[in-house]
Parts: sequence; C-alpha cells; structure tokens
Amino acid sequence: MRQLIAGNWKMNGLASSLSEVTALAHALEARPPMCDVLICPPATLLSRAVQIGGTVVACGGQDCHSERSGPFTGDVSAQMLRDAGAVAVIVGHSERRKLHGETNSVVASKANAAWHAGLMAIICIGESLAERQAGKAQAVCKAQLAGSVPPGASIANTAIAYEPIWAIGTGKTPTHAEIADMHAHIRVCLDVKMRILYGGSVNSSNAEAILALPEVDGALVGGASLKASDFLSIIESSRSGP
Ligand code: PEP
Repeated sequence: MRQLIAGNWKMNGLASSLSEVTALAHALEARPPMCDVLICPPATLLSRAVQIGGTVVACGGQDCHSERSGPFTGDVSAQMLRDAGAVAVIVGHSERRKLHGETNSVVASKANAAWHAGLMAIICIGESLAERQAGKAQAVCKAQLAGSVPPGASIANTAIAYEPIWAIGTGKTPTHAEIADMHAHIRVCLDVKMRILYGGSVNSSNAEAILALPEVDGALVGGASLKASDFLSIIESSRSGP
C-alpha cells in the first residue's frame, strides 16, 4: 500500500510559512515521491496552501465540526474544509481529546461528517504513558478504535493514526518492537484494510526505520513537518509498499 506522510502544523504558521509549502512542492515536482503527501496547515492558510501545493502536496484540515453548518462560533465544518480544497481532515487528535474534551463518539461523528463532505478522515488514537506502563496500551487503543471509527470506514475514506500521547512533541518514541506490535494489533482490530500511520516525534533521523516497520503505512508528523527540508527528508524515507 502506498504510504501517506501527513504533516500536522497545529497552531503554527503565518502567511510567511507558505514559503515552506512552495519549497516542498518544488522539490516534489522535481523528484516525485513514492508516497502520498499531505499538509494540514491552520485553517487560515488552507486555501492558499491548496493553490501552492497543486497536484504534489495535498492539503487537509486539523479538525472539523460534526455539523455541516450552524450556530457554532469559531468552528469549521468538513464541508468548509472541502470547499477550501482540502482532501482530508485529522479527527480525534489527542490534543483535541484532552483540551476540548472530545470523546470517542464525538470523534466518530466528526469522521462521519468528513466522509459526507468527501474528505478522508485521519482518526487518531493512542495511549497515555500511565496506560502503557499499566500494560493497558492495546486495550485502550482497541476501545478507541471501537468507539471512534464509524461503520463504513474503508481504505478510501479513512486512515488511522496511532499516536502514543507520551511520544507527541517529546522527542521520545516507542521501540520499534512496540510500534510494530501496536500496528499489528490495530490491524487485527479493524474489519477492513486501511492505512495505519505512526505519529509521535517522527523526524528525519528516525523516519526511515519507523517507516520500514511492518504494518506502518505512513506517518503523521507534527514539529518536523514545519520545515520543508525536514519534512522532505521524512518523505524521502518512505518505502514503496506492495
Ligand atoms: C502530532 O501532533 O500529531 C505529532 C505527531 O507531533 P510530533 O511529531 O511533533 O510529535
């Protein structure tokens, strides 16, 4: 399966940051990647990033509301993201789950909204450090999958991002065996084949080994997606899949 390397800019980036998308697009036009490439910038930059990214860098949102439109001040709907040119949206990121109290069922409604708008949902799951240390990581991820992935998920409309919370933005990663074990577990929990991305402190030094692990179908990259040169080096570490 062709890997997906997705960048999550979070609440980072001003208009000047679009030069990174330009640099990335130019590099990928010159040397087409073996993987699919997606950037999820802040909503304010989305439509300009879409124009710059053209056919080589697809763009996505970082979150969406579950409703199509309505009295939800400050929110953005999946339909609006699609209208701005997005092809995907991240839902259920641990920062949303923790800071905005999003439950599995909220995440599932957002995934449904994404599908209805014609977007691929990148559904994030992952355990806390305490849960891993208690030996509960697999059970936690299984429950998150059961509650956050609605019926109807397919390889075309969904990717799962396994992001251990303790690895996000910390420079720490699970061992290769831990990543491979969890991805195998997630694969077994899913009824249908879809991409399973790894996320959590992926950078230009560790990407090649992580992306070579079995059942790793790509990466969701935070900090290292902000600079075109770092992100490009991760993209170039991607293997072509069967
Ligand atoms: C993320 O926030 O999805 C993420 C993986 O961040 P980082 O790569 O910075 O750990």
